[in-house]
Amino acid sequence: MRTVEEALAEVLAHAAPLVARTIGLEGALGCVLADDVRSDIDLPPFDKALVDGYAVRAADVLAGGDRGALRLGEEIVAGRVPTRPLGPREAAAVMTGAPLPDGADAVVMIERTASDGQSVSIDAAERVVVGMNRLTRGRELRAGDVVLRAGVRLNPARVGLLAAVGGTAVRVVPGPTVSIVPTGDELVEPHETPAPGQIRNSNAPLLRALVMAHGCSVSTQPIARDDLCPLRSAIEAGLAADVLIVTGGVSAGRRDLVPEVLAQLGVEPVFHKVRLKPGKPLFFGRAQLEGGRRPLVFGLPGNPVSCVVGFLLFVRPALDALAGMRPRQSLSLDPVTLASAFVHRGDRPTFHPVRREGNIVRPLDWAGSADLRTVAAADGFAHFPAGDRAYEPGESVGFLPLS
Ligand code: AMP
Ligand code: MG
Repeated sequence: MRTVEEALAEVLAHAAPLVARTIGLEGALGCVLADDVRSDIDLPPFDKALVDGYAVRAADVLAGGDRGALRLGEEIVAGRVPTRPLGPREAAAVMTGAPLPDGADAVVMIERTASDGQSVSIDAAERVVVGMNRLTRGRELRAGDVVLRAGVRLNPARVGLLAAVGGTAVRVVPGPTVSIVPTGDELVEPHETPAPGQIRNSNAPLLRALVMAHGCSVSTQPIARDDLCPLRSAIEAGLAADVLIVTGGVSAGRRDLVPEVLAQLGVEPVFHKVRLKPGKPLFFGRAQLEGGRRPLVFGLPGNPVSCVVGFLLFVRPALDALAGMRPRQSLSLDPVTLASAFVHRGDRPTFHPVRREGNIVRPLDWAGSADLRTVAAADGFAHFPAGDRAYEPGESVGFLPLS
């Protein structure tokens, strides 16, 4: 049986970035850059005023015994350029964002001045220093600077930055599409009341939310019953996505037909079962479809917490890798400190739901892989390596975050 680390390495080996395409800014949010982006201009492109007021030479203000003596020169509004350099003992009226005339090295806020239309006097208390309220050309960035690197996911600020540097057509790796296929004879949809022996399909909404929270688009198939025909058509439909997640039907029961159906549809298994708790019967494979499409296929065990852990450990890094990000190649979990004692038993590493505050985690009273209620109160999972062992408060363990 694969270890978690071995299984993750195999998943990532199959998750090469999707083919990049060029898009406009409107559709860029959430995409991952395929290339470095450089600026085509200096920012700001000129020395600019940061406030409404008067552009001055600081030395003029300091030298002049009479602070009222600055002559009022031209007025420069944003979008216009100065027509001449600042003359000796002259002030130019400037609006926020306007270019400063040559010779000006400071801007005095209008609130700290008085003007009669001919001259400007500056409050005696105002200390005028070189650079005050001025943003010099190129202070933010220089033409040719790399402003965003390949592999960066575009958030709102980065979309704005692209606009500022003329990056209106950028090459991005599109986010992978995901399809979810819930399976099980016992399942009813969440709006239905389960009859005896039935349970609600919580996995499909759960996985859908996990995928959407990760910024990918997702479609959900209706519940597929545990028979070859319905499973086949649901899985066939799901293979239209870049990533197919099937839940349930991958264990060793007589009605666990998912691996058989996947094989019929040309999905080559990479592994089936990982040394892990919860979530051991996890399946991972790669389809080989007409036209060369090769979606990734995850079969997650049906218990909801197994689904969550399987998603966090394997599907989430795969989505990042397909999207062109460079996920960590190994399972590097943040070290955190146990707040309370914990006894671990068993020959599989266990991911146990915990509350986290700062660097301290408190294991929750958890009833196992079907107990989603406890996970809903958790911040993530503590990782306890295989083997029987009593942990003391203060010991260090790894932490797998839920988000
Ligand atoms: P399976 O992996 O199909 O053997 O299912 C394991 C357990 O997970 C069973 O108790 C199932 O009833 C439950 N289960 C399977 N699919 C779902 C689902 N979509 N939502 C909630 N529980 C499920
Ligand atoms: Mg089942």
